[in-house]
Amino acid sequence: MRSLDLLKFENENGIIGRKADNKRKIIRHLCRYKKSLTIPEISTLIDLSIPICTALIRNLVKDDYLIKQAKNTSENGRRPFAYSFNKNGFYVVGVEILSKFIQLSVFNIGLDNIHTSIDRSFTLSNDKECLSYITSFIENSLIDSNINKKDIIGIGVGMQEVIKDSNGELSYFFPDEAISLKTHLESKLNLTIIIDNDTRTIGVAEQALGIAKGVDNSLVVKVSRTLGLSIIADRHIIKGSYGVAGNFSHTQFEKGNRLCECGKIGCLGTEIGGNALLDDLKFALEDGKDSIYFNKKNISNYKYHDILEAVLKGDELSLKLIHDQGYKLGKALGNVINLIDPELVLIGGEYGMVKDYFIDAVKSGIKITGLINTVKHCEVKASVLGRYLGAKSGACMLLKACDMIDF
Ligand SMILES: [Zn+2]
Repeated sequence: MRSLDLLKFENENGIIGRKADNKRKIIRHLCRYKKSLTIPEISTLIDLSIPICTALIRNLVKDDYLIKQAKNTSENGRRPFAYSFNKNGFYVVGVEILSKFIQLSVFNIGLDNIHTSIDRSFTLSNDKECLSYITSFIENSLIDSNINKKDIIGIGVGMQEVIKDSNGELSYFFPDEAISLKTHLESKLNLTIIIDNDTRTIGVAEQALGIAKGVDNSLVVKVSRTLGLSIIADRHIIKGSYGVAGNFSHTQFEKGNRLCECGKIGCLGTEIGGNALLDDLKFALEDGKDSIYFNKKNISNYKYHDILEAVLKGDELSLKLIHDQGYKLGKALGNVINLIDPELVLIGGEYGMVKDYFIDAVKSGIKITGLINTVKHCEVKASVLGRYLGAKSGACMLLKACDMIDF
């Protein structure tokens, strides 16, 4: 029997409820622990008597949550047993939903990838057809993974532009209806779902697996096609009252002249990121700038990755465009650093491809607007987690919500 809801934290009443609470505590401790523990060690850790702990652990082994292993024979000749979480017996699923991309990955609890499904021809839109596509994409990807649903702890979804819906859930679809995307997916898939903004989800991955681990205050900046920011204060990821905190892309530190999708002119997101980079290239070519990789006639065929790749080949025009964006981003970040006073600014996303050229420009920009004493103790680093992090971030978010991963 496996019926433990590992996302549950409030104490349950009655003997059965208390048993379930204590089982969850044992699982969480053992999952976060890197080594196996004996029953006396576990009973001390979670403050339970040895007989109660023994009975609970016997149950958890029977249900495959824990693995029992014999330790070396002790001095008195007895052969004690130690217990660890069955990391290969359970799975967690991460989904990334971007404007033109959807990915699902299944991981074991050690976050080793078991299966991935990707659709690069996907387009996100706020209508029922898209919702139905997302639901069947997840259903079919889980079937393709050959993993039994009863072994899946839950699904963490990182997606663009989520806001709180009428149920208070962070959601994208049904903004005016009394049903959230979370509720819809849970009823269709019969699995626990949590949803958050894609950039904040990456912030969780940086906290759990990256350089932001153990750092109290940090800013995680994602620069890909668009610009995103995750604010971590006292190790909490700031969501805001409506779920849209960290909307860095629509701030205006240095008024530009491009029309933003939000209807305003000069938002930072029109100046930084892949979409802006294509506009920068178009402007430079029309202005008569030269490049052996780009010309005015083919401008509509280029993708922003072409410019990032030209940077790596030493194209002077592309280098200048990347440098200018990094410098502008740095000047904007200097202001945020003055407000939040973080120890760390972490730059991730697709611009990680050109980090050796981009990060130095960001640092130069920060020096212009950041207060000297505040900037002095704030490190600026590139993420080391690499590209294609989105689905893994969703899995991290779910494990964090279950308190099964350290951050
Ligand atoms: Zn805007």
